[in-house]
Amino acid sequence: MKVLVTGGAGYIGSHTVLSLLENNYDVVVYDNLVNSSIESIDRVEKLAGKKVEFVEGDICNKDKLSQVFKQFKIDAVIHFAALKAVGESTQIPLSYYQNNVHGTVCLLEVMQQHKVHNFIFSSSATVYGEENDVPYVETMKLGTPSSPYGASKVMVERVLADLALSDPNFRGVSLRYFNPIGAHESGTIGEDPKGIPNNLLPYVAQVAVGKRDKLGIFGDDYPTKDGTCERDYLHVMDLAQGHVAALDWLNRHSEFSGVEAFNLGTGNGTSVFAIVKAFELAINKEIKFEVSPRRAGDLPAFWANANKANQQLNWQASRTLEKMMEDTWRWQSNNPNGYLA
Ligand code: NAD
Ligand code: UDP
Repeated sequence: MKVLVTGGAGYIGSHTVLSLLENNYDVVVYDNLVNSSIESIDRVEKLAGKKVEFVEGDICNKDKLSQVFKQFKIDAVIHFAALKAVGESTQIPLSYYQNNVHGTVCLLEVMQQHKVHNFIFSSSATVYGEENDVPYVETMKLGTPSSPYGASKVMVERVLADLALSDPNFRGVSLRYFNPIGAHESGTIGEDPKGIPNNLLPYVAQVAVGKRDKLGIFGDDYPTKDGTCERDYLHVMDLAQGHVAALDWLNRHSEFSGVEAFNLGTGNGTSVFAIVKAFELAINKEIKFEVSPRRAGDLPAFWANANKANQQLNWQASRTLEKMMEDTWRWQSNNPNGYLA
């Protein structure tokens, strides 16, 4: 089975490509490298001992996408390609709607032209917005996220629902990720943010390796156990395997049409202070931090109810927080400058 992976050179994409190869799927990666390096694909090929077809291109370029569908007999698409920085999305919202919403519509149109119906979408816990209680469960109504990034994910989920209503052949899966962290245990692929990291773990790891002076903890006066925000962190290799599980689910359910959402998380919330502690334990070194003001738009706490994915996809996030920290550190310390080192 041949899978087109858009955004496959990125953080989650590269780990998923590796899992796909290890599970005997053939892979074509389509990526414009706006937030990634081709080096990630070279390293995935080395780890898997297999070849990946790579095409550099933008998902908004329908002609180029169409050529890919002509050249390769694609059976399914896993769609990671998107811009993902919440803060940046408030500054350049049009780029976010162009890439994440228009780009997805272009991809779906080309898939339809080429009669490819299996589609797995990178959604996010952010689609639950501020309105829902925790833990989040798939039966909840979608919320209204405050950022254009979050809104773009809700919009795409709506596009998929409408497409499924209109096209009886469409077979879609929305995977709602919670907070992926960590790296492949080899330490050769991992998260390589450009500039100052927005997310917690890359920031902590860069402080540990001496690239940043200290971590700013955004608020310690939230209504949580220790006052810092709680999130559902899961290992990126568990998340990668969630995509293989979703593809296997589509293959097992040949009668299925429509679109189905699954939460991918551990079901546990961990605070920022607890993350810093766990990282310090893993590397046996102190992480300098200071408490700074709250970051706009942060919710106090959310985590997944992952029962649906556990039961229907036969998938469970099994790697421990300790392993997430160790693997983050192996990647960061072996590659202090990411893929450019
Ligand atoms: P990433 O930036 O590392 O990967 C995204 C990839 O898509 C990059 O390689 C980038 O070059 C590519 N890309 C972006 N726009 C493109 C376009 N127009 N055409 C072709 N390629 C394009 O991000 P990631 O963390 O691996 O996230 C992957 C997906 O998962 C995204 O859709 C993101 O919104 C979603 N997601 C991520 C998280 C997270 O915490 N990392 C959480 C929830 C959802
Ligand atoms: N966070 C922090 N300092 C940082 C980055 C993040 O205190 O430099 C906090 C942030 O406020 C949130 C948690 O860490 O409570 C996770 O943030 P991240 O951006 O990684 O994930 P998201 O907010 O998207 O869930």
